[in-house]
Formats: sequence, C-alpha cells, structure tokens
Amino acid sequence: MKEEDRKCRDIDGVYRSAFEACVDALWFCNADGVIIDANPACSKMFGYSREELAGMESKELIAGEEAKSFTDFHNRVKSSGIARLVSVGLWHDGETFDIEIRRSAFTFGKKDIFLYFVRDVTDRRQTEKTIEQTNKELTKVNGLLQMQNRALARSRREALETMKHANRAKEKIEQMNKEMEPAIKRANQAAQKAMEATHAKSDFLANMSHEIRTPMNSIIGFTDLLLDEISNPREREYLKTIWDAGENLHSLINDILDFSKIEAGKLDAEIIATSFDEAFDAIYTMMRPMAKAKDIDFKIIRDKSLPRTIYTDPVRLRQCLLNLVSNAIKFTEDGHVHLKATAEVIDEEKWARFDVEDTGMGIPADKQGTIFRSFSQAEENITRKFGGSGLGLAISKKLVELLGGKISVVSTLGEGATFTIMLPLNPKREKTTSIKDEIMERDANSEYKDGEQAGKLSGRVLVAEDNVSNQMLVKILLEKMGMEVTLVSDGTEAVEFVGSETFDLILMDIQMPKMNGYEATRLLRQQGIDTPIIALTANAMKGDEQKCLDAGCDGYLAKPLQKKLFREILSKHLARNEEGDADSAAITSNLLGDVHLQPVIDVFMEELPELVTQISDACQELDFELLKKLTHQLKGASGSAGFMVLSKYLSNVEVMLANKEIENTKKAIDELGDFCKKIVETQNK
Ligand code: ADP
Repeated sequence: MKEEDRKCRDIDGVYRSAFEACVDALWFCNADGVIIDANPACSKMFGYSREELAGMESKELIAGEEAKSFTDFHNRVKSSGIARLVSVGLWHDGETFDIEIRRSAFTFGKKDIFLYFVRDVTDRRQTEKTIEQTNKELTKVNGLLQMQNRALARSRREALETMKHANRAKEKIEQMNKEMEPAIKRANQAAQKAMEATHAKSDFLANMSHEIRTPMNSIIGFTDLLLDEISNPREREYLKTIWDAGENLHSLINDILDFSKIEAGKLDAEIIATSFDEAFDAIYTMMRPMAKAKDIDFKIIRDKSLPRTIYTDPVRLRQCLLNLVSNAIKFTEDGHVHLKATAEVIDEEKWARFDVEDTGMGIPADKQGTIFRSFSQAEENITRKFGGSGLGLAISKKLVELLGGKISVVSTLGEGATFTIMLPLNPKREKTTSIKDEIMERDANSEYKDGEQAGKLSGRVLVAEDNVSNQMLVKILLEKMGMEVTLVSDGTEAVEFVGSETFDLILMDIQMPKMNGYEATRLLRQQGIDTPIIALTANAMKGDEQKCLDAGCDGYLAKPLQKKLFREILSKHLARNEEGDADSAAITSNLLGDVHLQPVIDVFMEELPELVTQISDACQELDFELLKKLTHQLKGASGSAGFMVLSKYLSNVEVMLANKEIENTKKAIDELGDFCKKIVETQNK
C-alpha cells in the first residue's frame, strides 16, 4: 500500500461516514455508560432522537431484568476487547425486542470510551425459538416413534410366536386328519351300507307286501264267494269276521307298501286341479258310518275363503285327511270330530289349512313329536286297545311334505287333539282329470255290503294268471257273472291263445314267469289285437297304473280284487266291445246295478231331459252361476240313482267351471247332451 493511501485510513471523515451510514445501531459511551453519541440506525431502533440519546444511560435502552445483566456486562468487560451479549432492547414507548450487542473499547486521550453495536435479532430469535420448539417436538415425536417401534417389534415378535403356534396347530390338524382318514373312510362306507340297507329294506318290504297281496286276494275273494253262498247267520258272522280281518290286513299292507315306496324315494305326487267338494264328499261318506256308530258329531266345515279347487294330488290329500279323521274318530269316545278347511296367508304366501279337531283322549306332550315317526304310538297298549300300526301319521307326514306342505298337532291330554295340514295354494302344474282317470282311481272304501245285486254279463274272457288259487277265484267270479273263462299261466301262453281264439276281454296278471303282463300286452298290441286288456296286479301304486296303461292295457285292477270295482270295470269294457263306444257305454250304465234303486232311477230318468236342456241353455247364455247350480244338482241326482260315471263326469265339469275353462266346459256340455240321450235310450230299451 502507498504511504498516502495509508494516511487516508486515519481520515476522521471516513469513520464518521461509516458511523452515520451503518445499518446496525451504534452508540458510544463513557465508562459510566452515559451515551456520548448514537448513529441514525440507533435512533430508529430505539425510537429516540440523536439528541435525546446523548446523555442517556446505556442501560436505559435495555429492558427490565436484562438492564442489570447489561450493567454487569458493561463493568465486567470494561478493559477487555470485543465482547458479545444477547439481550432485550426497550423501545421508547415500552415495547421490547430481541437484540444482540457487541462491544468494543478504546481510549480517547486518557478516557475509556465504549462503542456498542446493536442488531435487532427478533426475527432470528423467533426462528431460533421455532427451531428450538420444533426440535423439542421432534424429540417428543422421536420418543413416541421409539415407543411405537418398540411396540411394533413386540407385536412382530408376538405375531411370529402366534404364527409358529398356528403352524404347529396346522401340522397337528393335518396329522390328525391323516390319522382320521381311515376312520372317515370307514364311516362313509358304513353310511353307504346303511343307505343301501335302507333301500334293500324298502325293496324287501315292497316285495313282501306284493307277495302277501297274492294270498290275500284268495282269502278275501273266497270269503266273498262263500258269503254269497252261505245263509246260516252264525256261519255268515264267522265269514264276515274273516273278511274284516282280511280287509284290515289289506289296509296294513297298503300302508307298508306306501311307506316303503316313500322311504325308497319311489313315490311321486300327481299335481292336478282338485275339487275340495269331491274330496270332502268322499271323506264324509266313508267316515260318517264310523262316527255314527260311536254317536260322535262329525262335520266338515269349509270356509268361504278357500277356493273350490286347488292344485294338488287329490289321492294323497284324501289319504292324509282320511287318516287324520279316522284317527280322530278312533280315539274319541264322545263329543265331536270336525274337519275345518280355510285359506290362510303367511308371509304373502297363500295356504290351504285343514284342521282335524277332536274331543278325544288327547296325546301326552312328550309324545306329540314322536307320533309322526314310523311305527310309533303314543302309548304301549294302543295297538291292543285300538289296533293300528303306527304308520299312518308317518305316511301322512311324508305325503304332506311331498305335496309341499306341513303337518302338526296341538293337544291337551284328556281334552282332545287338533291335527293341522297346511298345503300351498299356488298353482304350479295343470292337468285336468278325465273320466278314465276317475274310473281308474282306487276305491279305498271297501265296506262289505250284504246282498249286492249284480246283473248278468256275457262274453269270453281270457285270464292270464300264474297263481292257481287266484286263477280259481277269478274263474269262479267271472263264471258267476255269466262269462265264459279260459285260463293260461303266463304271458307266452296268453299271446298264443289270443292268436288262435277270439276273446271279448283279457285279464292280464303283471308278474308272471316266462313273459310278464307288460311284455305280453305290448306284443299283442304290436300284433294289432285290440281286445280290451285289464291288468291285474298286486303292485297297487299310482305309478303302476300308468305303467300298465303305457304298455297298452285299457284298465287296471289292484289285488285283492274288490268285487264291486271288478264288476264295474268288466261291464265297462265288455259294453265297449258290444257298442264300440267306451265312454257312452260307461256313462249309460247304472254301475251299482241295484234293483232297489229302481224308484230313484225312474224319477231321475224323468227329470234328466229337462235338466240337460236347462244346462245346455245356461251354457249357451253363458250364465255360469246357473250352470254351476244345475251341474251340481244333476251330479247329485245321477249319483243317487247310481250313475256314478255320469256323476264323476259332472264333477269334472264343476272343476272346469270353477277354473273358468270356458271352452272345455262348452265341449263337455255338448257331449253331456249326447251321453244323456244315450242313457235315456238304453233305459227305455
Ligand atoms: P295308528 O295306526 O297306530 O293309528 P298313526 O300313525 O295313525 O298310527 O298314529 C300314531 C299314534 O298317534 C296312535 O297310535 C295314537 O297313539 C296317536 N294318535 C293319533 N291320532 C290321535 C288322536 N286324534 N288322538 C289321540 N291320539 C292320537
């Protein structure tokens, strides 16, 4: 540096300018702290004019407690060089702010002079405070994180432990499963065997009842024949007892057969339009004598809410209701048995409800659940006292379930019982019954009637039957009716005979050696033989009827043969042969053939033409209310006069009317006119 430049450093003006222009507040003071001068930045920082500052004590610029620290600082470091203090400045109106003070000391002449540099560090302090706070928070968070980490580590350790346990448990289960495999296999095999055993048991029962039916046929049939021939009252009484016992056995076999078919899952329901009136009429007719004999008030009460027809299996419904009503009468000594039928809506679904209410002995509470099980009776001595097998309710329950319904009981011991059947009212499948179906229906009412009258029939009948006593029975029955009989023992012989001789009717047993009845019938039909064939079989289930019809048979009779039904079906098919018109022949015949009915028949014949005219007029005028009334009237009249087929035909018309099947009704009524004309002609002959 040049000498003249160095001299410039001492220029007083330079330092003065620096003092004046410095952005930091500067003041200088004597050893007592009294301010000698301050720069403009100092005036600005503390709010005093330069003149005011000169003469003030330095500590007056420092706030409260801090002023004392400042005095200490001033005295303590008087002699030393630059020192630093962080303090709080005091604005002239009392406000405070953070400051940082630096000080330097020098001597002027002999005097100690102190120069203070002050900087406002409020912002910096604030930032520092924030950082400090943040650090504190961070420390806290850090602490929490550490805690969390420790907890996580613990959970992880525990989870690992649990997993280890789970794995060990899984291994154990797998091990156990492996060990159990042979046992499971054995259990499955046992279940399979049990199922096979159930099926085998059911098949066995079905076969057994079939086998029992064949000798039963002889027992009942021959007793029946003897009853016709013997007049000694005592002997007749004995025979009647045998006949009754045979019939009881027959119904027991039917129960067992039904039950075994149900158990083997071989029973189907045939859902068709079913008229309640018809079902109730049948139940009333069958049960009234039993109730009357015990002087019990027996009523069937149908609520108007119940539709006239529902879609269900009429045979099964009737079977269940009959079972309940006959039980009710059996277990009631006095009071009433009422069958009440109503409609009910549960959860928006419509149901038909049947209550069979009695005032009999009732059922103990602990037995009410078990009586629906097979072979179960409420008390040990029931069979001895009342008979029965304990199968009826088990069958009814299964049948009701097959029809989509429910059965239940409420009872108070000693006061009576009410059995309830609920059946769904929602129509699902539709099929109207034909006259043929009606005739095919098994007649459960087989009460023996003394002195049943029978007009003579004529014609040649071929009987194919392998059982010798059954051959004899059928032969005698047919011959007594006035027919000529040829006997053969199996299907092959039947086919041979029909090829060489002419018959008016063939009675075909189904189970025969060499060639069974189905095959023989099929073969005959294939050869163009159209002689009526009636199947005779001990397989008395609904499906079996259909099998016979499918093979080409015209009719079906279940063993043991019921004389009345046997006669009905023979006369129908023999008449068909003579007149070539099955329906009209069936319709025109008074099937009861009962001479005592003659006065009733006479009145009926007188009324018939007028009623038929009124019916066809009402039909033409589409007056369905009148039509219903007249049809019902004619149905009743024809039934009373013994024209059962006509009566059943009219029941069908009633069902059509109830279902509003207008076209079918019109057709049926057209035919009705023709049939009735034929009835009149036949009766006038
Ligand atoms: P059963 O052929 O023995 O009558 P069911 O299955 O029809 O067989 O009835 C089973 C048992 O339930 C009966 O033996 C009887 O103990 C009881 N039972 C059924 N209906 C009634 C009733 N209306 N009153 C009292 N007990 C009844």
